[in-house]
Amino acid sequence: MNEVDEKALQILRKYNLTRPEDTLQADFIYAKDKGLMFDKENINHDEAVRACFEIFSDCRKEHFTNLFLASLSINRLDYRSGLAAYAIMQSFPHHEFDMLDGHYCKLCSYPKQRVVDLSALNNLRFFCGGLFSGSPAEISFFLLQHQKLSDVYPNTLDFEIFGSILQAIRRADQLTTISTLQKQLKSILSFKATKEQIKVLLETLGYCGVLQTPSHEGLLHRYVNISLAPRKTRSSDWKYPVDFWTGKDGVNRDNFMYWFGHYKELKQYIN
Ligand SMILES: [Zn+2]
Repeated sequence: MNEVDEKALQILRKYNLTRPEDTLQADFIYAKDKGLMFDKENINHDEAVRACFEIFSDCRKEHFTNLFLASLSINRLDYRSGLAAYAIMQSFPHHEFDMLDGHYCKLCSYPKQRVVDLSALNNLRFFCGGLFSGSPAEISFFLLQHQKLSDVYPNTLDFEIFGSILQAIRRADQLTTISTLQKQLKSILSFKATKEQIKVLLETLGYCGVLQTPSHEGLLHRYVNISLAPRKTRSSDWKYPVDFWTGKDGVNRDNFMYWFGHYKELKQYIN
């Protein structure tokens, strides 16, 4: 059941995290009834971490990669957004709240308890295609919502678009930065994505370790708290590790094979 109610989607699109009162109560109830908006929830750190692992144990990698690829031709960003959360879970540590100072966990930066705006998180899923902070509350919500989606096998156009993305990455010269690559991907004709959506997609490939550097690896084998991770420059707004990627790093073949090696349709783009 992947159909989305158009009216509820428009209500969610207009939802403003900083001005939730702008959404009429009747509209909120409508969108909530359609499963797109949610009451805010007071979420405890340890419960959120536990939920991440419980849901993750039921997740299947292909369900995430299939929908990630299937998002490309139709721009269903909710299809795309699950992979970022699933990729972070590859190395996310089983842990209890561990305070550094103040109120935040020293491992994942989530407080002991927080009121979470789940509608804002769902807005991210549907309109950005990836997550924001990588907090356990965010990851568990993304995984749970993704698990509600039926599997969709990518079509020919999805594979062609991803193939074009891979070719652009592999052809990039030494001087190509991640921002340059972002601009190049904008010119893939059948890929209808905004600059911001391309940024989030590249960041997801970073968490997957498909785009990484020898000293700044993705999260496949080692956990990095993306909200505290180093940045290339002080003003950079790119997430770790793609921030550090340049053309000479290309596609990391081993990590690519882990995520996408089972798609025979992609073999021609990687060999
Ligand atoms: Zn933590």
